[in-house]
Order: sequence, then structure tokens, then C-alpha cells
Amino acid sequence: MPIKTDAAIVFEVNQPMVIDQVELDPPGEGEVLVELKAAGLCHTDLGIWEGHSPIGANLPVVLGHEGAGIVLETGPGVTDLKPGDHVITFAPECQVCGACHSTKGNFCESVLAGYGSEPSISADKNRVFAGYGLGTFANHLVTTSSRLVSVRKDAPFDQISYLSCGATTGLGAALVEAKVEAGSSVIVFGLGGIGLNIIQGARIAGARMIIGVDINEDRGAMAVRLGATHFVNPRNHGDNIVGHLIELTGGGADYTFEAVGHIRLMEQALASARIGWGVCTIVGVAPNGEKLGVLPFDLIMGRKLQGTAMGGVRGKSQLPEFVDWLMEGRFDLKSLITARLPLSKINEGYDVMRRGEGMRSIITF
Ligand code: NAD
Ligand code: ZN
Repeated sequence: MPIKTDAAIVFEVNQPMVIDQVELDPPGEGEVLVELKAAGLCHTDLGIWEGHSPIGANLPVVLGHEGAGIVLETGPGVTDLKPGDHVITFAPECQVCGACHSTKGNFCESVLAGYGSEPSISADKNRVFAGYGLGTFANHLVTTSSRLVSVRKDAPFDQISYLSCGATTGLGAALVEAKVEAGSSVIVFGLGGIGLNIIQGARIAGARMIIGVDINEDRGAMAVRLGATHFVNPRNHGDNIVGHLIELTGGGADYTFEAVGHIRLMEQALASARIGWGVCTIVGVAPNGEKLGVLPFDLIMGRKLQGTAMGGVRGKSQLPEFVDWLMEGRFDLKSLITARLPLSKINEGYDVMRRGEGMRSIITF
């Protein structure tokens, strides 16, 4: 029997999400039914909703990839999850493909195979798609067990739902992808839900100098509270922002990150990496089709340019440790969650993000 559940549906690009009932098929082979308890509002969903993200989605769609909840039912062949388990949604880790068997990266081959072909979640009325094969902006979801990570039960749902993308992407960008070293210098462009966690990751790594860059002064204050040693507002430096950052770091930073999604800032992040060895990591998702202008000579001068999805973190095998660190107080997510909303207020939650207010809003069910 199909499972009826409430979901926030995007019928048209940029039009408000509509709360309506959808029907989920019971979990099939390798699938799991989850009752969601919390779902985070990430900027990536906004980009898809506004129609300019390279990720894209078939419409109508239930967006949302940050989620945490409880397993209600497992389909045939699911051996690593059982009803009652607390789970976080994450990018797939099937643990059997060539990529999962390699020691490199976090791109399970099923990500590429399933790209753009999210399953349909509604049987009657409109055919509705589950964004990212998940669709966490709903009371329930059915997804593959490879997209679910079982975690300890004492961890609060709202905070672990943030580990489902934003927090892990930021922490992982610093600790897993860039491997920031103790004593190094770091520049982070963009101090939102992602960038503030890059700051926390750099602090955990023991970076000596951590510079947060944002046009929003409130974000700067938060960054300093979480471990940034400096805050720079580009509006105070006109065209000379790169020059200022190079001066501040004494020649450029060992590690730079872009966590906004603007091409110009990505170029600035590369240019403020130190000649000889500076590593620039692209985290922000730029609008579809926009191209980065890179001078090959900047790379020949020893700067390295790389990008990361989910901070290079593998869900099933690495996320539980991040949850342990959260519970040990090694980083702070509680104060980054500035709003908890019911699903019916999801449009207002995104208005808050558009206005640049608050840090992370979480839908609680
Ligand atoms: P957010 O809206 O919470 O934060 C964006 C921040 O950028 C804000 O603090 C804003 O003030 C700042 N900003 C805007 N314009 C700026 C400018 N010109 N100079 C400096 N700062 C500026 O967004 P978020 O949830 O932190 O996401 C940030 C980016 O990361 C988005 O592009 C999102 O799609 C991307 N993302 C990537 C991954 C990944 O796996 N690579 C995962 C999640 C999100
Ligand atoms: Zn996200």
C-alpha cells in the first residue's frame, strides 16, 4: 500500500513551494522508509529551485537533501539498517562499486549512474520527483539504503540533519579534501552555513591564521566566535581585496576556500592562495554554464585548484565519527541553527536565507 505523506513541492521554477500530500511506494529491493524528524535548508536547494543550478531537477519535485529521522521499514536485501535506527541522509556510498572500493574520493559510481533520473514518488495526481533521490522536505521518504547513515541515538535530530550536508561539507572541505595542516593560514570566502563550518574545520586542524571574508558583518562576528582570527569585509577594500588578503597573510594563504558560488570570488580565492603551494578549494556551486577564468600561469606558479562535493566525506564510513565529534563538543552546530520551522513555513525559511538573515534554518517534524 502506498504511504501518504505531506511534502513541500516545487511545481514551477521560483514559485513558492506548495504543501500537499504525495504517495510513496513501499520500500522495494534495497530501499528504506524513513520518518523524517528534521530537514535543513541548504543553499543548494535554492539554486535548483531558482532554476540556475547545474544540478537541476525534473519538475514537479520535492527538494531537500539534508535530513535526519527514524527507519520505519526496510525493503528486501537491506542488511545494515533496521526499524528504529536513527539515520542521516547523505550522498550514496554503496560500498561495492569500484569507486567505493578505492581509497580515493567520495564519488560512489551510483551518483553518476542516477544523476538526473530521480525516482518518482507520487502515484496519483501529479507525478512528483524526489530530488537527489531523497526529497527531505516531506514527513517521510523512501530511498536506497546507500543514501542513509545509521548513527547513535543520543544525537539531536536537528543538529545531525545539518551534518547531512552543510556542516559536513564545510568541516570535510577543511579536514578531508584540503587537509588543512596545523600552523597554516586559511582564507574562507563566504561565511554561511557552509563557510562557517570550514572555519570550524580549520580551527580543529590547528590553523594559525583563519580569515573569514563576507559582505555580511553579522557573519563575520559569528566566524570569529567559531575560530576565525580575522574578518574581512570586501566592501571596505574595493578592487584591492586580493591585494589586502595577500598582505594580511604575508604572501597568500596556504589554503583558500570559496563557499558562496560566485565565479569572481572563486578567481579571487585562487589568486589569494600562496605562490608555490597554496591550495584553492571550490565549494560554492556557481550558476549553470558559468566558466572560471584561470590563468594557466597562476597554476604553473604552484597554486593548486580543486573542488569538493560534501567535503570529500563518505557517508556510511565516515559520518558516524563526525557525529561523535559533535557529541564531544569538538565543533558547534547548536548556535548555528537559528530557526526551527514547521514544513508549512518552508517558504518563509528560504526568504530568511535570501535576505541573508540567520545562519541555518531547520524544518522540524
Ligand atoms: P548561505 O546562503 O548560508 O551563505 C552564503 C554566504 O555568502 C552568506 O554569508 C553571504 O553573505 C555570502 N556572500 C554573498 N555574496 C558575497 C560576496 N560577494 N562576497 C563575500 N561573501 C558573500 O549558503 P550556504 O548554504 O553556506 O552555501 C554556500 C554555497 O555552497 C552555495 O553555492 C551552495 O550551493 C554550496 N554548497 C556546496 C556543497 C558541495 O558539496 N560542494 C554542498 C552544500 C552547499
Ligand atoms: Zn546541501
